[in-house]
Amino acid sequence: MHWSDRPFELGTRGRRAHLAVRGLSAGYGAFLVLRDLAFDVRPGLTVVLGPNGAGKTTLLRALNGLLARQGDVLLDGNDLPEATHEIVRAGVALVPEGRQLFPQMTVAENLELGGWLVARADRRRRLEQVLQDFPKLRERASQLAGTMSGGEQQMVAVARAMMSAPRLLMLDEPSLGLAPRMVDELLVIVRRIADAGTTVLMVEQNVKKALAVADRGYVLERGALVASGPARLLARSSVIREAYLGAESTAPDTTRPMARAATPG
Ligand code: ATP
Repeated sequence: MHWSDRPFELGTRGRRAHLAVRGLSAGYGAFLVLRDLAFDVRPGLTVVLGPNGAGKTTLLRALNGLLARQGDVLLDGNDLPEATHEIVRAGVALVPEGRQLFPQMTVAENLELGGWLVARADRRRRLEQVLQDFPKLRERASQLAGTMSGGEQQMVAVARAMMSAPRLLMLDEPSLGLAPRMVDELLVIVRRIADAGTTVLMVEQNVKKALAVADRGYVLERGALVASGPARLLARSSVIREAYLGAESTAPDTTRPMARAATPG
């Protein structure tokens, strides 16, 4: 059995989330990593690509309240709160880099923790839904998370985030360290989550595979967005081909460079 044999039921009912970010700056103390970013995360699957140290993790941490930020972050036109628990309540969940499961707890216990802000009755219903969508996790419900393979742990981390019924799911390099087949399975699941109605923002280093499943992409370099566009076109852009793919394609570059005067859209 694969991880993704059928469509997901986990979708958000109602309007799909739209995150609008304007003038976002964040960093560590006096060290500013992100400078004045403006971008949109529209319904569907958006990826942020970029080299090591570009600020991708910093971006997700700033959006998730783990790092102080400046600028406007609007979820469907409303200011996103700054405290993480309020951000979760507002419908935003993060699958952090490195998964950060509790290794000495079972799969079921890890999942339940993902629903800590959900009312108890809803939590049970939500867990049942998550186990339906991730049938392999039902088989493993009583296994200690720390004894699972890297790919299985990543699935637990995604399923745990879905326990809070997010309208916006953010993932930080979910494919890191996974075998190629597992990366493919994971990306199919991320795509299904987006198709089922949860807006997805995913940071990835696996440029080719990420652009193959995404709707739109942004390229972050040294804390600034340098290109954006539909994923299909971005994959053929000179920015991506030269810096990441080393491809020899001669397709015309139709993506919109964002350097300096970016107009979000
Ligand atoms: P990677 O793909 O390697 O994870 P990234 O694009 O996610 O890279 P970040 O982890 O956001 O990049 O790091 C951006 C910059 O911020 C780097 O220069 C990094 O050294 C710095 N940085 C990250 N975390 C901290 C921290 N806790 N304190 C100080 N500087 C930090």
